Amino acid sequence: MNKRVAIIGAGPCGLSQLRAFQQAQAKGADIPELVCFERQSDWGGLWHYTWRTGLDEHGEPVHCSMYRYLWTNGPKECLEFGDYSFEEHFGKPIPSFPPYAVLNNYILGRAEKSDVRKYVRFNTAVRDIRYSEATGKFTVRSTDLNEQADQEEEFDHVIVAIGHFSVPNVPSFPGIDRFPGRVLHAHDFRDALEFKGKRLLIVGASYSAEDIALQNLKYGAASVTCTYRTGAMGFKWPEGIEELPLVTKFEGSTAHFGDGSTREFDAVILCTGYKHHFPFMEESLRLRTHNRLWPPGLYKGVVWMDNTKLSYLGMQDQYYTFSMFDAQAWYVRDVILGRIALPSREEMDKDAAGWQAREEALADPIQDIDYQTAYCKDLSAATDYDIDWDVQSDNFKHWEHHKEEDIATYRDHSHPSPVTGVQAPVHHTKWWAALDDTLETFMDTR
Ligand code: FAD
Ligand code: NAP
Ligand code: MG
Repeated sequence: MNKRVAIIGAGPCGLSQLRAFQQAQAKGADIPELVCFERQSDWGGLWHYTWRTGLDEHGEPVHCSMYRYLWTNGPKECLEFGDYSFEEHFGKPIPSFPPYAVLNNYILGRAEKSDVRKYVRFNTAVRDIRYSEATGKFTVRSTDLNEQADQEEEFDHVIVAIGHFSVPNVPSFPGIDRFPGRVLHAHDFRDALEFKGKRLLIVGASYSAEDIALQNLKYGAASVTCTYRTGAMGFKWPEGIEELPLVTKFEGSTAHFGDGSTREFDAVILCTGYKHHFPFMEESLRLRTHNRLWPPGLYKGVVWMDNTKLSYLGMQDQYYTFSMFDAQAWYVRDVILGRIALPSREEMDKDAAGWQAREEALADPIQDIDYQTAYCKDLSAATDYDIDWDVQSDNFKHWEHHKEEDIATYRDHSHPSPVTGVQAPVHHTKWWAALDDTLETFMDTR
């Protein structure tokens, strides 16, 4: 096959894509030439932790939004790869909620086993992608960051896999410019010990707000106040965390809230989400969306309908992650290999409109989970990707229930694997008491 395929990003999505092609090749298929561009010096995407914030050693924006002591916020049995179980990787069953180093180790384990590192150009940032109707090809301009040398190449297909939790959405509030303490976005949050003994204000009411609030209390913050725009998270919080309507203004270190109350703070963390940001894509190829379950313009949630040689992976709001990325990558692979014939534009539009209408009618997290499960099943039915989505879906529903019961203990539960069927062992230490997040301590191999 003399086609060339560019994959932008070697995070979980890019690695799923490389694995998908490698798996087809191992089964005898002829695969295209693959070039995976990765701006960072190593793979793993967000799971590649760095202490750096702001700009990196090359003057590029730091991609990492991970922070120390981050433990997965959903059961690992909800993200397990269909073709590579945790048990296969670690040689034994492990608990359901590992810290990030353990998850990163697992992601990289499959990538290494598949021998796909040879396809990745590290320290290489994609700067510009445009399509020529005349040649039917994409021109990709990239910069080798070590050499500061640019290169332009042509590709038949482009797969954008750069994630959408790296470019912070940063609102402002009256008086915040004169707040005397530290103000930062979750993207730049690295270590809760910085806020030990501090009175912390957290803006936002989603996963980052929830986890950064809990984690700071766990590591010794004096108090945590979360402030919401649309609705409170409403969990049964441990003592020390409260929720108030949106902050209206700051006067010095005093914040005023929508209900008229006031509080003094030492620091503010904006957990206000991220932007889908594709500055290198020619405007007509650029995905424009907020964080939602059905981003517009993509057939089967991946294929760019205006030019089906272009795909985007992982752009959805995510209940499912790694297994959904696999289902997407296998689908895109089969479109490129010609195993899946795309229908007419009219039919693609109709299919996408149906999913969007269903998305708009979703009323609660359980319906969201059923919706994303149906999406994953729809994708994987078209390829040879296999996993027990019903086990993953049940795990999500139990997890939701555990979170409602007690937000501080949901990570102490155990879930069954969708791949091996084995129930995970209960961890040796309760999450609230587990302060050491290293792989060695988690695996109890010290
Ligand atoms: P990313 O992981 O963001 O990887 C994208 C890659 O593209 C990066 O390596 C980046 O360097 C590269 N890139 C970007 N721009 C360019 C460019 N111009 N040129 C070349 N390369 C480029 N999911 C879970 O399942 N469980 C969790 O516990 C969990 N925790 C999370 C915690 C935080 C704080 C955040 C922000 C997200 C978390 N997620 C979690 C969700 C996360 O989105 C996925 O797990 C996953 O990392 C998404 O993979 P991705 O490949 O789409 O994107
Ligand atoms: P998100 O889910 O997109 O939520 C963004 C939040 O910001 C929403 O609550 C939104 O409020 C709020 N917001 C946006 N603009 C605002 C404004 N102007 N004023 C007030 N509030 C505003 O983003 P996220 O919480 O950062 O989560 C991103 C991803 O990271 C998720 O996939 C999550 O699972 C992952 N994550 C995981 C962990 C972990 O423990 N493993 C930890 C952190 C994050 P509205 O509701 O009003 O829109
Ligand atoms: Mg299948």
